Amino acid sequence: MTATHRGERALSSFPGLAERLAAVQGQIADAVRLADRSADDVTTIVVTKFHPAGLIEALAELGVHDIGENRHQEAQAKAQQLSALDLRWHFIGQVQGKKARQVRAYADVIHAVDRESLVSALASTESVVDAFVQVNLTDDPARGGASPDAVLPLVERVLETPGLRLLGLMAVAPLGAAPRAAFAQVRELGERVRQVAPDATKLSMGMSADYADAVAEGATHLRIGSAITGNRPIER
Ligand SMILES: *Cc1c(COP(=O)(O)O)cnc(C)c1O
Repeated sequence: MTATHRGERALSSFPGLAERLAAVQGQIADAVRLADRSADDVTTIVVTKFHPAGLIEALAELGVHDIGENRHQEAQAKAQQLSALDLRWHFIGQVQGKKARQVRAYADVIHAVDRESLVSALASTESVVDAFVQVNLTDDPARGGASPDAVLPLVERVLETPGLRLLGLMAVAPLGAAPRAAFAQVRELGERVRQVAPDATKLSMGMSADYADAVAEGATHLRIGSAITGNRPIER
């Protein structure tokens, strides 16, 4: 069976998927227009964690190129299984130091670089991977990310490490706080990052519940799961 036939068959297994994707794309287009931004500056990553590989085939059939996963073993298996498709794999979860080289092998973009030991573990003289430094907007270290004070030193570390190309900052809005204010904080921090890394212009922020606010504050990479995929089969 050809990839297209597989994709068409996959699509029929996920009723409502095409409609949800189109609805979210429409909302993003509205937010982009409202913010007076260019649609080309905003990449939508569809987060497919916990969903079967068939869902990703269906998304590819619908024209999606950017796929987000947050658990190494699951991401690795899906990337291998779907290597024939033209996809960009975004690893959006926390990376264990001892798995760093394996994640590099299939990920096109690593979103959660949050500590110096991970930067060292990701170093390579053979290939270059795109990376975001994650900033933690809460007081809870378990939420992942470097504290705002630690971001600039970490950025400098990334810049001096071979094999990493810094795209910019990544963040998750804190629970129970206004997302727009949190995203504004990331945007301001991003401006400081650009003083030392002029090419690091990207901001990975905005999920199903808050992507319009993220677009308003300059997000370039939206990570959207359930609003497109529907509820995840297993929730942690
Ligand atoms: C799961 C996840 C998302 C997507 O979450 P939704 O609320 O389903 O859109 C985005 N970013 C990260 C880091 C995630 O783990």
